[in-house]
Order: sequence, then structure tokens, then C-alpha cells
Amino acid sequence: MNKQIFIDELKKLNIYLDDLQLNNLEKYYELLIEWNNKINLTRITEKEEVYLKHFYDSLTLMKAINLKEDIFVCDIGTGAGFPGIVLKICFPNLNITLIDALEKRIKFLNAVIKELDLKNITAIHIRAEEYAKETREKFDIVVSRAVAKLNILNELCLPLVKKGGYFITMKANIDDEIEKSTNSLLKLNSHIEDVINFKLPIENSNRNLIKIKKDDETNKKYPRNFGKISKNPL
Ligand code: SAM
Repeated sequence: MNKQIFIDELKKLNIYLDDLQLNNLEKYYELLIEWNNKINLTRITEKEEVYLKHFYDSLTLMKAINLKEDIFVCDIGTGAGFPGIVLKICFPNLNITLIDALEKRIKFLNAVIKELDLKNITAIHIRAEEYAKETREKFDIVVSRAVAKLNILNELCLPLVKKGGYFITMKANIDDEIEKSTNSLLKLNSHIEDVINFKLPIENSNRNLIKIKKDDETNKKYPRNFGKISKNPL
């Protein structure tokens, strides 16, 4: 996706970027490539592909939620910063917390935050289930792209969401994940409000945004330890 198509496609999502934001995306791309030579961040490195599959794809979250509001967002398993860093560059109004279990990736994210002088964004090296034990009902929105199956993600992410807030997961293929998540949604007092299916421009691959509303507080017994979550998912 070249720069002009990127800008044009974003307009269709009601996203208009200024020069500073476009320059910051460019700098982020350069840092991604530089650090990717030292640590494993992404297998997608060709510039137009990064703009499509990482930058544009992260911003499709706008199809599920209005990102122009001043809200607290947590990105679970952010990896090299997708979607969290892209959201922060394009929506400085958001207060963002990035979570990942791999320390090297957090070091990279802190370098990006410093280099781009991003404010109101924190990157934390911690496992989601540990973070969710101590940080309850804090975020308006929790997002997670390409991290785990939905029934597992629900237990990791929903305890972090405020009552009335949303957990939104971004996935290429969902197969039978929705059917298999019924019990976890019941136990975690939440329901699927919407499933937004669309095609990524240019390559026409499948994308899904599963938008889950948290109806009531989460029982303190969730999340369980990761061994239990993965061996015996809700
Ligand atoms: N969200 C990014 C993206 O879409 O490019 C990264 C996806 S990568 C496939 C999955 C990431 O989730 C990895 O960086 C991994 O370290 C992290 N992760 C997996 N399980 C996790 C957990 N329980 N807590 C925190 N991070 C986790």
C-alpha cells in the first residue's frame, strides 16, 4: 500500500493524518526495520506491506469504536506495537497501555515512545494474566491483535475492562472461535455485541473485529494461572 493509497483508505475510515503523524509513522517504520535486525519483531518488512498489514490494519479498529474520544485503551500482546503504537501516533487523545510478555519487545517500544516523544503511553513487561490480577476494571477499551483463541483471550482481557466497556479482538480467521467462547462470555459477564467482517484493501484477505461488551464486574477468581487457562479454557 503506497502512501497515497494509505491516506485515501484512511479517509474512508474517517481518519485524517497531519504531516507530523505521517512523519512519525515513517520514523516508526525505520525503527522497526533497524531493531528487527537485532531482535525478532516482525516477518513483514517491505515498506508497502508494513503500511498495509501493520499500519492500516491497526487503524481498522475505527470500524468498531470511535477512537477520537479521550479514553483509556490497553493493548494486550502488543508485540512490536500493533495496534497500540499506531493508535497513539494517529490518535494522540488516547491514553494507552501496551502489555507484552517479551522484555525485548518492550525495550523496542520504549525506544519508539522516546524517539517519537509520545505522551500518555506506557509499555509494561508483564504477562496479561498477571497484569489482569492486579489491574481490574480500569480500561474503556482493551484490544488484542493476533494473540490467542477467543475463549483464552476473554479470560486474559475482560477483567481489565470497565463495566460497560469493550474488549475488541482483531483476527484474520475466526473459524469456530465464537461458538467455543459462549461459556467464557457467560462466566465473565459479557456478550458479543458485533462481529465486523471486512477485507483488507489490495490483497483482499479476511479480517474480523469481534466487539465484546462487558455487562458486569468480573469475579475475582479470573483470570486463573496461565497453566489452567490453556489446559482447561473456560
Ligand atoms: N499484536 C501484535 C501484532 O498483531 O503484530 C503481536 C502479535 S504476536 C503473534 C503475539 C504477542 O503476544 C507476542 O509479542 C507475545 O509475546 C505476546 N503474548 C502472548 N501471550 C501473552 C500473554 N499471556 N501476556 C502478554 N503477552 C503475551
